[in-house]
Amino acid sequence: MAFPGPVNLGALIAENEVLFIDAGLDEGAARKLWRWAEEHGFRPFGAILTHAHADHFGGAHFWEKRGLRLFSSTLEGAMMEHPLFEPIFLFGGASPHPDLLGKFTLAEPCQISGKLGPGKVELGPFEMEIVFLPGHSPAQIGVRVDDVLFCADALFPSAILQKHPIPFCYDLDQALSSLSKVEAETVVPGHGPILSGANLRAEIMAFRERLEEIRGLVLSALDSPKPAEEIVGYVANALREELRALSSFLLVRTTILAALTSLVRAGQAQATLEENRLLWEKSGNG
Ligand SMILES: [Zn+2]
Repeated sequence: MAFPGPVNLGALIAENEVLFIDAGLDEGAARKLWRWAEEHGFRPFGAILTHAHADHFGGAHFWEKRGLRLFSSTLEGAMMEHPLFEPIFLFGGASPHPDLLGKFTLAEPCQISGKLGPGKVELGPFEMEIVFLPGHSPAQIGVRVDDVLFCADALFPSAILQKHPIPFCYDLDQALSSLSKVEAETVVPGHGPILSGANLRAEIMAFRERLEEIRGLVLSALDSPKPAEEIVGYVANALREELRALSSFLLVRTTILAALTSLVRAGQAQATLEENRLLWEKSGNG
């Protein structure tokens, strides 16, 4: 069962118990699902949190206070227990700018009671497969039950890419290989419409093309050596993404740095220091 919203949430039901998938941005989102379970006479058993971005786990502390057990991958769980990591990472490791301390980039912490690895998993009366989908974040997981895959942010449908042409990405190569694991009759992405059939295949192809387009634009920006911030502007202008806030700029900068890492791995780009400025330029295969 899926609950469409700003972040799509899920609920598995077995023997009158319910297991939620993701918690939404805040207490309000989590409270809605809790009420829904109560109204239907389901006993909340626990929740699987796909990754440590505030819009997916920000409401989990509300469930934890009500005794719900929370499950995630080990690495993402560590970040949910210490959510200050998110603004610290965005701000390059320094104490974050105050604009990064709002609820969209700094969620309430929650304690993870069970760590999940990939493969078949049984939690109480629930049986599912945990699919490892890194790339959007370091250790994101998806949940497959029968023919339905909750893939979190491993796939951004075109409706979302129209609003945000440069999706957040931690590792572009991993994001591309995780995309080939997004296979099921029905896929529930973290944002946007539920997908199946030809529509699903078209959306996967469009997302793959967007990631490759970003990588290609970063490479063409290196026709002359540039600092990373300038490459952000180059790619954002090419894809008509308007960056109006510090947080939007830094989120996109992460994706650009992920593309640079991918190009460095492929021997197409390198970092160089020139008069104490860090510049990116083409190399060997670039
Ligand atoms: Zn995310």
